[in-house]
Amino acid sequence: MKEFALLINGALIYKQEQLEVINPATEQVFASAPRANEDDLNQAVVAARNAANSWALTDIETRQAMLNKIADAIHANTEALTHALTSEQGKPLEAAAMEIQYAEAFIRYFATLSLEPEVLLDDENQRIEISRKPLGVVAAIIPWNYPLLIAVYKLAPALLAGNSLIIKPAPTTPIATLMLGEILCDIVPQGLVNVLVDQNDLGARLSSHPGIAKISFTGSTPTGKAVMASAAGTLKRLTLELGGNDAAIVLDDADPKTTAQGVFNSAFMNSGQVCIALKRLYVHEAIYDQVCDELAALTRQAIVADGSTPGAQFGPIQNKAQYNKVCEYIADARNHGNIIAGGEIKEAPGYFVPLTVVKDISDGCRVVDEEPFGPVLPVIKFSDVDDAIALANNSPYGLGGSVWSSDLERATTLAARLECGTAWVNQHTVFGPHIPFPATKESGIGVEFSREGLLEFTSMQVINVNKVL
Ligand code: NAD
Repeated sequence: MKEFALLINGALIYKQEQLEVINPATEQVFASAPRANEDDLNQAVVAARNAANSWALTDIETRQAMLNKIADAIHANTEALTHALTSEQGKPLEAAAMEIQYAEAFIRYFATLSLEPEVLLDDENQRIEISRKPLGVVAAIIPWNYPLLIAVYKLAPALLAGNSLIIKPAPTTPIATLMLGEILCDIVPQGLVNVLVDQNDLGARLSSHPGIAKISFTGSTPTGKAVMASAAGTLKRLTLELGGNDAAIVLDDADPKTTAQGVFNSAFMNSGQVCIALKRLYVHEAIYDQVCDELAALTRQAIVADGSTPGAQFGPIQNKAQYNKVCEYIADARNHGNIIAGGEIKEAPGYFVPLTVVKDISDGCRVVDEEPFGPVLPVIKFSDVDDAIALANNSPYGLGGSVWSSDLERATTLAARLECGTAWVNQHTVFGPHIPFPATKESGIGVEFSREGLLEFTSMQVINVNKVL
């Protein structure tokens, strides 16, 4: 078994204490990861602070060139990273390769951005300029659904803005991130990027550490709240990308077949383990049965299997705790609705859950009101579109939402009434590095991607010059 190392201060640090990493398709340990302790964390913070001081002095071209170098190196390691992602996360090889391709594209996009100062006023009396300065050390805390891509969402803007970074993956998916650390060890200046692996015990220390200026966190809403609480003592900058329970509303004039395909693609992407997956579907009564039938047909054809086997389209749930939760949501669906596809969980190795569609169900039960974060889609009938909008908005979450219709104007007007960061029309879960990704309500604070997301890794400084003293 290959030995992996933490990356601290430009050195690969091997540890005696190890975490077992389980392949969710087999439930077998396939790798072990070095476990960092508090001393490692403190050393990483000191290293990152030193590196940040020098990196902050570099020009934008140097940083852009560094990002492109990192993207090249990820590209060169695509095959190994793909296999690691499939083994630890469970997703099919093709989806894992796509995650790496996206990661590379995100880095290359950020390599095209810059942070020119903005001149507000420049006359004979005064000059007022707004500039963007790096924050210092950023800690990136990552969930287990897209381990590499989400790490890159934070790495690329953080480095471009002149910060250094400590990346902490989820304990169940550390391998691709450790490999990224090995790759970066030969590329980035000493201490600029550090990788620590924990057993869910260092996150709180990162968010309260006085040497860290910002936490960029992606994960569940309860953990996001804990991060916010423990970051308060040092008034850290925060970007929190948290849970979601995205609603979609299908109007009476939508085409049942094409809509069902679009809904299916979003709801079951990554076996439903996507923050902006479509998680509640409200369908007008006029086409309710047709949409349900189409969805059920698509779902029954889906191949859920070990991601490393040929033909696998959907992998298992990533870890045992989440698998148990998803099983509870399926039981809830059975109690409150009519399961028309999936729903039968086999007694076999692996955290496999069949893609499941439940109809004749309404708000007020767990599978509709909460975030299942698994392949279970409740389909709710409505007759009045205002009621559907009210139900869609009746959630503590506000990440994404969508409206589906053949009348784009009507759908767009309704989409604007959804209380969420991204409102789609005739699509869902469509995103890109150039499109801002904001969160509202308890789905988070701040924006990722695009120039807006880049600015979150900076602090604003106003230079106000009196020319006539
Ligand atoms: P999680 O909140 O359990 O863990 C996320 C990370 O936080 C892990 O690295 C974990 O080790 C760390 N952590 C645990 N306790 C901590 C603490 N007290 N302080 C700081 N960090 C701590 O989330 P998860 O189960 O890994 O991921 C699933 C959740 O993430 C879902 O709710 C999903 O919707 C959400 N998510 C959101 C987005 C988004 O962009 N909004 C993207 C992906 C996933």
